[in-house]
Amino acid sequence: MKDVLIIGGGVAGIQSALDLADRGIHVYLVEKEPSIGGRMALLDKTMSTNDCSICILAPKMNECASHPNIEIMEYSEVIEVKGKAGNFKVKVRRKAKYVDSSKCTGCGDCMEKCPTEIPNEYNSYLDKRKAIFLPFPQAVPRKATIDKEHCLKLTRNRCGLCERICKAGAIDYNQKDKIIELNVASIIVAIGSSLYEPKDLVEYGYGRYANVHTWMEYERLINAAGPTHGHLKCAPDGRRPKKIAFIQCVGSRDVKRCQWCSSVCCMVSIKSAMLANEHYPDLESYIFYSDLRVFSKRFYEYSKRGERDYKVTYIHARPGEIKEDKRTKNLTLYYEDEEKGKINKIEVEMVVLATPIMPSKDARKIAEVLGIETDKYGFIKTVDYTNPVETTKKGIFVAGCCERPKDITESVYQASAASAKAAEIAGD
Ligand SMILES: Cc1cc2nc3c(=O)[nH]c(=O)nc-3n(C[C@H](O)[C@H](O)[C@H](O)COP(=O)(O)OP(=O)(O)OC[C@H]3O[C@@H](n4cnc5c(N)ncnc54)[C@H](O)[C@@H]3O)c2cc1C
Ligand code: SF4
Ligand code: SF4
Repeated sequence: MKDVLIIGGGVAGIQSALDLADRGIHVYLVEKEPSIGGRMALLDKTMSTNDCSICILAPKMNECASHPNIEIMEYSEVIEVKGKAGNFKVKVRRKAKYVDSSKCTGCGDCMEKCPTEIPNEYNSYLDKRKAIFLPFPQAVPRKATIDKEHCLKLTRNRCGLCERICKAGAIDYNQKDKIIELNVASIIVAIGSSLYEPKDLVEYGYGRYANVHTWMEYERLINAAGPTHGHLKCAPDGRRPKKIAFIQCVGSRDVKRCQWCSSVCCMVSIKSAMLANEHYPDLESYIFYSDLRVFSKRFYEYSKRGERDYKVTYIHARPGEIKEDKRTKNLTLYYEDEEKGKINKIEVEMVVLATPIMPSKDARKIAEVLGIETDKYGFIKTVDYTNPVETTKKGIFVAGCCERPKDITESVYQASAASAKAAEIAGD
């Protein structure tokens, strides 16, 4: 059996890695962040079971770390690919973490004492993290990384506190990036997606109104490991909301922005409304939709359950404008009541915008390195609809949201299909 390379360690990459490794095939799992896990590691609960997301994913992440056939190359990027199916020569840049992973115990002492705080991308920039950090508590590998852009020692030759504090002697400010050469039979691309920042939709006030959030921000706010420890709080006084409005298709299915359907948002907003009501049983939610896309197994029943058991009201309308009350920071949404043919309004304390799932920021760069094509929107292109895992280059396959927006279940079965195809070549 020859080796296989997987690029991207989200749920799709993880599933492909485990499938291949269990068949006796050695896998390199290249992840650009300091931890595998991807977006699923940052979600609170998952639809349509409302199971804890990280509770399902963490065992798989740990299995990857301990599997004898999987080598995780975190904080790394594929920079060159040559050759063809059965014999690809790959160069990977392993970025310096300035921490010796073989010594770091993940104790966190350094992070507690580090004086440098910067906006925390893993909490949608809603709080701060240190310059030496773990992306989230269940990170795999659980090893610290120093952010070289912000560390005082690496930028100004000051501080050095973490080296003095670390009992394991793991800090190494002299570490350098390393280029590793691999030889693999096949490659799976699973680099996920990115999200749209809806500042240009000025009518919804994102970035101007304190209580308007994106759905990803909401995931972190309702998450016990997030910046507010799972408590929903509204400006200006931290009170909890009694009414929340969710607006669908904010930039998706929009000829001026993202023309595609982001596929999971309707279900995710129903889930989010249910979670809010689980936290605060008197809380009411209003989901403003264009078409409620609840098409997969048990999705329709889930939407009905929201209405019946969780105080969710579905409103077939697209709010034209949101206005903020300067004093209370409450938000009034104006929308057309189709049945009555008049303009209606509703006041809520919080608004959540379901923004588009976009192609990964790295999709075009990775496509260029691999010599594969992207579609007209920038998602990784597959050969045709009857071949949903094969890219335009033989021996390179695709899985998960980098191919098009999809939920975890679909990502996992595309990942298993991609691993089966990749295994055929590795076993030749
Ligand atoms: C707000 C929100 C809520 C959601 N809620 C649910 C839900 O409840 N249930 C559900 O089924 N689905 C949900 N989804 C969808 C779910 O997140 C995706 O289906 C799933 O994460 C897709 O997995 P993936 O592995 O394709 O991508 P990701 O999870 O995005 O993982 C991609 C990985 O690739 C890495 N990567 C990126 N570029 C590179 C590179 N150049 N080199 C190496 N690595 C790279 C990334 O760092 C990341 O770790 C939600 C999505 C959003 C946005
Ligand atoms: S670098 Fe040292 S102090 Fe920091 S988490 Fe690792 S072992 Fe602990
Ligand atoms: S040396 Fe850098 S990472 Fe370490 S404590 Fe100081 S600022 Fe933080």
